[in-house]
Amino acid sequence: MYDAKWKSNFRRKLINWFDGHQRELPWRQRKTPYRIWISEIMLQQTQVATVVDYFNRFTKRFPTVAALAQADQAEVLKLWEGLGYYRRARQLHAAAQIIVEEHAGEFPTDFESVLALPGIGRYTAGAILSIALDQKLPILEGNTIRLFARLMTMQSDPRTTDNQKALWEFSESLLPRKRCGDFNQALMELGSQICNPKRPKCLVCPVNNLCMTAVQGLQEQIPVASKKVKYEVLLEAAIVINQQERILVRQCGPGERWESLWDFPRYTLSQNAEAKSHAQQLQLQLKEETGLGVELSGPLFQMKHAVTRYRITLQCWKGDSVTGRLRKTPTPTRWATLSEIEEMPMSITGRKIARKLKSP
Ligand code: SF4
Repeated sequence: MYDAKWKSNFRRKLINWFDGHQRELPWRQRKTPYRIWISEIMLQQTQVATVVDYFNRFTKRFPTVAALAQADQAEVLKLWEGLGYYRRARQLHAAAQIIVEEHAGEFPTDFESVLALPGIGRYTAGAILSIALDQKLPILEGNTIRLFARLMTMQSDPRTTDNQKALWEFSESLLPRKRCGDFNQALMELGSQICNPKRPKCLVCPVNNLCMTAVQGLQEQIPVASKKVKYEVLLEAAIVINQQERILVRQCGPGERWESLWDFPRYTLSQNAEAKSHAQQLQLQLKEETGLGVELSGPLFQMKHAVTRYRITLQCWKGDSVTGRLRKTPTPTRWATLSEIEEMPMSITGRKIARKLKSP
């Protein structure tokens, strides 16, 4: 089925289509390993349309590996604010420092050295080196998994270990002798623009006569869905404590959901309790953690958001009439003005609360 003729037809049709249809994206204007690396990390779990502005701001402020390595982590996180999955930004920053220390500030060009950097797996290393330097390396990510599963008529879950191995081998076997970077980008572009998850546009697909899934009308069955993730429902509360125009904020510690970002004191609440007992629980936890006593009112408002497998309802409470002294806490905790908070890197929900405080 996937003989040399099929593959050469596929390569030719795909690259011709890409030459005429590729989107203009900022990281495609100047393809250095550094810029492709930043774009690839930002694009993990995030839509292209969202990434464009972040990429332009980030590379303007940090045009080189050295500039990124020298920056304060807080500034890197501030520029990342709103993109989510902040571990990516921390690892990017750490990797830039390693590149400066171990590779004299030059992004490494061999696969093993790139793979050894924090936050870079097989896909990202292959994408950077093929797109920026045209190295003959395969890629496999969400779009290509779906595209290959359909081209291969894969009738079982593509996420199993055996199927992943088969998909990587398929990706490698398709690589052309020249223009590997364009070819890999074309695969992802076809997967995202034409071979969509729900309604693939087979009629305008440049490889439709090579695709047995389309010929057999199996687009809805392939790729086979993975087992559904079980979501966990959480109720949380953030407390805004105001004392003489300063608000209590804490920096999230190692291993916490928003490590290194700033947040209002935030606690998990029992799902079934009344607001009165929630207030008592929050007062107790706050006292235990910070030494401060407060009178609580609320919840003032609530918002729903999702983080990985958690579906969270976040309530916002207000704390007044502060008693006691702020004691030394395991992670930095301080009183800050609204303008200081504006400059601190925060999670999306933390920032939403801060904005409401500014213009209620
Ligand atoms: S023909 Fe349809 S299913 Fe096959 S690769 Fe193209 S868009 Fe995907």
